[in-house]
Amino acid sequence: MEDNHHRVTSLDTICIHGGWEPKKGEPQQLPIYQSTTFRYETSEQMARLFDLEDEGYFYTRLQNPTNDFVAKKIAALEGGVAAVLTSSGQAASFYSVFNICQAGDHFVTSCNIYGGTYNLFNVTMRKLGIDCTFIDPDWDDDRIRAAFRPNTKCFFGETISNPGGNVFDIERFARMAHEHGVPLIIDNTFATPINCRPFEWGADIVTHSTTKYMDGHATQVGGAIVDSGNFDWVSCTHQDHGATAGAAATTAPGIERFPGLTTPDESYHGLTYTTAFGRKAYATKLVSQLMRDLGSIPAPQNSFLLNIGLETLHLRMQRHCENAQRVAEWLEKNPRVAWVNYCGLPGNKYHALAQKYMPKGSCGVIAFGLKGTREDAISFMDRLHFVSIVTHVADARTCVLHPASHTHRQLSDEQLREAGVAPDLIRLSVGIEDVNDIIADLEQAMG
Ligand SMILES: *Cc1c(COP(=O)(O)O)cnc(C)c1O
Repeated sequence: MEDNHHRVTSLDTICIHGGWEPKKGEPQQLPIYQSTTFRYETSEQMARLFDLEDEGYFYTRLQNPTNDFVAKKIAALEGGVAAVLTSSGQAASFYSVFNICQAGDHFVTSCNIYGGTYNLFNVTMRKLGIDCTFIDPDWDDDRIRAAFRPNTKCFFGETISNPGGNVFDIERFARMAHEHGVPLIIDNTFATPINCRPFEWGADIVTHSTTKYMDGHATQVGGAIVDSGNFDWVSCTHQDHGATAGAAATTAPGIERFPGLTTPDESYHGLTYTTAFGRKAYATKLVSQLMRDLGSIPAPQNSFLLNIGLETLHLRMQRHCENAQRVAEWLEKNPRVAWVNYCGLPGNKYHALAQKYMPKGSCGVIAFGLKGTREDAISFMDRLHFVSIVTHVADARTCVLHPASHTHRQLSDEQLREAGVAPDLIRLSVGIEDVNDIIADLEQAMG
């Protein structure tokens, strides 16, 4: 944040003032540039834009000021050099990997990931010739190392997995990715940068479904990809720009592991992204190649709504975590409840990791199972009053979902377990209502 805001480093203040910084006589609130295109006065001016010689707007599929101001705020919150908004979290997950993988390549991913991402990686990306290996983060280092191949291009994981609530050991997996000369990509949707900043632990790229806490009001579907600028695509090493030390890659420097970034792009007059854009090479390629060819930009109107959500992200996350902690403690003591997975509980398997990566709190999402059958879970949900059954999560309103019957319906029981989802798992997304009302609704529904 430059100019009048140059001393601002607090995330709370960035939530309000990041991105759009109005000057004299400009609107206090971020303007919606609801325009497909932007006008120039000479043909030469426009030609220079297409050659990437000048910066400027020309077509909203590539860049739009409203989208860019919101991306700038998200980049500041994560501590990255650049961010790109997408029309969904799914598009963000896809682009984050596809920007550095092509047919014949391979990547390694945690098996504890969102069901939509699991399908994207396991089915759709395989059809594009991009192979992946799912690892269980609970495996020991040697077993995980064995998943890496000479054509492996990245390692992917979720800070807190949706819906299981497992916490990913970012520092450990960043080290392992860097040993193999590849970046670590983290989906930070559930923690949000308010509670965890993966770049501080060695992650290289962060993705978000902004549909969730960042928006927080269920108004728009969107995604974001943030580039730390710390991965050197030429030497294939993580460069220390202030946070953690870089590990030496096993790859000899000079290998073209990421030719899309380090060799001339014929579709851009032979420009080489790493040479032309340095630490912003990854983000620039993502916009000028993937957005150009595949689209998936958010509507400026949606980015405006997202920005309003971001203005209160810090307040909402604090309340989500306080409420979820109380609800998790209540569930744990309830005789009708078989098990509770919430990393804020001291007895939880992921408690120590949560304390390390998210000392201020994790998120509002709790996974639990009821004693009894699958039908008992379903009738519990049907009896809820204001707690709603929705295919949504991480929202101001408390909501509930049974992944085996809903979001993960297309997975077999074995695939469910592989994705870290027990068949009896109920995902409870604790909102920011009065916690006593939330508990009362759960209590009456348990009968
Ligand atoms: C919802 C979600 C996604 C997909 O995002 P959409 O905005 O629904 O496309 C990806 N990752 C996580 C962790 C999510 O919760």
